[in-house]
Amino acid sequence: MLSQKTFSQFPGTSQLSLHELSRQLYADQQQRWPMLAGGVTALRNVQTRTIDCGTFSVRLQYNPKRIVSTGASVDAASIKERKCFLCEGHLPPEQQGVLYKEKFLILCNPMPIFSEHFTISHIDHIPQSIEEQILSFLSLAKDLSPHYSVFYNGPKCGASAPDHMHFQAAPAGLIPVEQEIYAHKKVKKNLNGITVSSLERYGRSVIVLEGKSKQEIELTFLRLTAAMRNIMKTNEEPMMNVVGSHQNESWRLIVFVRSKHRPSVYFNEGERKVLISPASVDIGGLVVTPVEKDFRTADAALITEIYEEISVSGETLSKIIEKL
Ligand SMILES: [Zn+2]
Repeated sequence: MLSQKTFSQFPGTSQLSLHELSRQLYADQQQRWPMLAGGVTALRNVQTRTIDCGTFSVRLQYNPKRIVSTGASVDAASIKERKCFLCEGHLPPEQQGVLYKEKFLILCNPMPIFSEHFTISHIDHIPQSIEEQILSFLSLAKDLSPHYSVFYNGPKCGASAPDHMHFQAAPAGLIPVEQEIYAHKKVKKNLNGITVSSLERYGRSVIVLEGKSKQEIELTFLRLTAAMRNIMKTNEEPMMNVVGSHQNESWRLIVFVRSKHRPSVYFNEGERKVLISPASVDIGGLVVTPVEKDFRTADAALITEIYEEISVSGETLSKIIEKL
């Protein structure tokens, strides 16, 4: 079955980079899979606008096709009832992927937010967990560099398949935080060659890890999640979104530390309901609004309030960094 779903493999017999193989896949799938072709065409026509929130700005993307993901029921009962759409046996007949290290299948997302948008699904139906898969995340970031960045949504922070391990990838630099980081970054400490920073005046609670040693960045990330568990008082995976990249021989992990999945306005009734359900891309500064009313009416006050509500406090963030 997996062989039927494999468009190409990395590493494989060809000399092509993972970036080239992924780009080939995207071109081929648009020819053969009408649903993806439709998604790509729809994306070309989406409207966007920028909201100035004072010390930072966000981009809104009016993308009606994303209602499936933004409005998804991700409670345990709903997940149990549905057929897992990332399991290989349930993929659409036309869908194929790049088999990565015989462990992940790089697939095209048929409802893209970006000009190229991949879902990187584990070949087994195992739960979403960044700590278990951090080495794969770092390898993917390097193998897809410098063209793509990878990102992760925690099981309670926007993953629409919390029961099936997956990452995503997008063209590097298109999640606004990747560019804005330079204006907001403040170095807090250095641990065995890994720089730990926070983002100041950014309206969200963010920790950034940067360094050249894969082993040290892995260890520092695991120390960070242990510190988050301790300070946030949870036995589960601490709530987070992570955007990862590799450039100039150095890894960078941007970790959004979350207190909540969906903001209270999401649960309002009628006209007062706002269908914004933040995952990595949204909290990273590109807010997807599948409903036109929300796209037209969202303003700085709403965005600032949502970011504040779903992020841990500045005090909690400081305690986590202290604990590292
Ligand atoms: Zn599955």
